[in-house]
Amino acid sequence: MSFRVHVLGSGSRGNSILLETTEIRILVDAGLSGRQIERRLRSLDIPPDSVSALFITHEHRDHTQGMGVFARRWRVPVYVARATAASCAALLNGQEEIRFYRASRPLDLGDLRVEPFLTCHDAVDPVAVTVRQRSSGLKVGIATDMGTPTVAVRHALRGCDLLILEANHDDVMLRRGPYPWSVKSRIAGRHGHLSNRAAAELATQLHHPALAAVVLAHLSQECNEPELAASTVTEALRKRRYAAPLRVASQDEPLAGLDVTILAAAVRSPQLGLFERS
Ligand SMILES: [Zn+2]
Ligand SMILES: [Zn+2]
Repeated sequence: MSFRVHVLGSGSRGNSILLETTEIRILVDAGLSGRQIERRLRSLDIPPDSVSALFITHEHRDHTQGMGVFARRWRVPVYVARATAASCAALLNGQEEIRFYRASRPLDLGDLRVEPFLTCHDAVDPVAVTVRQRSSGLKVGIATDMGTPTVAVRHALRGCDLLILEANHDDVMLRRGPYPWSVKSRIAGRHGHLSNRAAAELATQLHHPALAAVVLAHLSQECNEPELAASTVTEALRKRRYAAPLRVASQDEPLAGLDVTILAAAVRSPQLGLFERS
């Protein structure tokens, strides 16, 4: 009964995450090119045609770029909100198998339950997701592309074993960075992206004794540094006595083999000295 997660790539230039159990493999977002998704899957010894579902969170190009190509080439059904599909119609040619989902209505795909929930982001119908393995109860939260973590978002993400959270920018680097004012205020706004500081705050709010790993994702190339994002969130979590792994996903290469089953067992095992109550 395994449950593993591979972040194929994450950042402002493309996002795609594979979740796999012994029963099923699903992709959340296809923001790399179809060819790049295929290449990265093969680098992990995962045949692209073994992917059973592609789930799209919102229409932005860094989440949809390879969606049509990958779905057609490997005959993978695409799960997408109706409005989202309409706004990325240019990527589709009618040959894909499209299945519409609605926020707050869970989908059962193999032994995985995918629950999409609405986020504050400048897209037509943006969602983040939790994915629970029904047999083990293990839960993964994938929450990027949001300007504000609302009460509903925090509620949906409670009790996750693995949290993949956006740490898009450092506030100071964004302020001093190369973007025009309008772009800066969009990124930092209510419907933009989470800063390192906001990610740290959200991570501490979601912290619980069985939280087994945190992955920071969707880092800006221009306005963030992996070490800065990691230290900001680590410092905040240390106050909650969090001692489990914290990793940073990369744009250019997969962060592979996050084994939720093993990570959860490690944090729950007092013998390993990793289980700390806060
Ligand atoms: Zn994005
Ligand atoms: Zn977006």
